[in-house]
Amino acid sequence: MIPVEILNRTMVAAVLHGPGDVRLEEVPIPPIGPKDLLARVEAASIDFTDRKVYLRGSHPMITIPGLFGHEWAGVVVARGEQADVRWQPGMRVVAANSAPCTDPEPSARCRACRRGRQGMCERLLYNNGAFAPYIRIPGRITEVNLYELPAQVSFEEAALAEPLACVMHAVRRVQISDGDRVVIVGAGPIGLMFIAVLRYRYGQSIRLLSMDHHEDRLALAKSFGADAALNTAGGPENASVRMALGVERADVVIEAVGSAQAHQEAFELAGRGGTLVPFGGVAQGTVLSLDLHRLHYEEIRIIPIYHHTPADVADAVQAIVRREVPVARLITARLPLMELPRALEMVQERTTLRTILFPWGERGASKGLRNDCTT
Ligand SMILES: [Zn+2]
Repeated sequence: MIPVEILNRTMVAAVLHGPGDVRLEEVPIPPIGPKDLLARVEAASIDFTDRKVYLRGSHPMITIPGLFGHEWAGVVVARGEQADVRWQPGMRVVAANSAPCTDPEPSARCRACRRGRQGMCERLLYNNGAFAPYIRIPGRITEVNLYELPAQVSFEEAALAEPLACVMHAVRRVQISDGDRVVIVGAGPIGLMFIAVLRYRYGQSIRLLSMDHHEDRLALAKSFGADAALNTAGGPENASVRMALGVERADVVIEAVGSAQAHQEAFELAGRGGTLVPFGGVAQGTVLSLDLHRLHYEEIRIIPIYHHTPADVADAVQAIVRREVPVARLITARLPLMELPRALEMVQERTTLRTILFPWGERGASKGLRNDCTT
């Protein structure tokens, strides 16, 4: 089932070796098991998590040295002999980076999955290796988190399905009612996705306020659907928040920055009966000090969002296909895979919203494949 031109060949892929040490090196094209697929990566997206993993040099789900990158879209090129017949070579697809328990018998699934918390699956299977010309799609992912792409959706747009699925997970879990005031702290790609999804989902029935420290991102936030955008570089002034929201505090505050300070600000902004949604990941050991008096007497809920479920991935793909979220506008840089180190720098400098990496070059040139080596 493996085309001869791929069998036993090598490719140049990003391999994480340790903290700050990622190398583009020659590795075997991933072998596939009976239920797996092999796909050609046409576009991979790089995000802040990739940057964190790179700096830490580790991830719970990457064995070091290990393949790297988790947001991608591409074309199926080979299938294991027992792979689901739905998937055939030549299909344009997008896959999530994980799959929870998929046992048909619910009692065989892990406790988190049985409780309906698939994002917290104890046996979550992660898949890395998107910064490469080819990626293996494990059988479990082909069962629940793989989608065929219609011709009108580009690979680079589809590569943003995974982060959008995390946003969909938040929107699924956080109750929002007519007339609610929603604050989104941070107008990076995730903050902008939140604005677009919430506006599409709730129309004009809610009021959306975006906060950021950069004027260019605030302007984008308004164009994505925010009613107001506030520069909080000097801290959120109560008076300006009140003016923007019409009230002192918000019903829902989403932290989409990933810093202790932004979490602190977000908590301060949550009002009576409100909800804080910590979305941005922070380093281990980061501690948030909370006013327990307010937490208790104002019944402030905290709903952290980390991952996604298959239902969220389905929602995200559908939102991209139906153009409900203008993900293409988030793509502000395109680089060949060989420029991964520069792409990692750009994430840190925040000079880009999303950078797309092309393992084959933007026009599908066969760069990146080393076919001069056989075993
Ligand atoms: Zn599970």
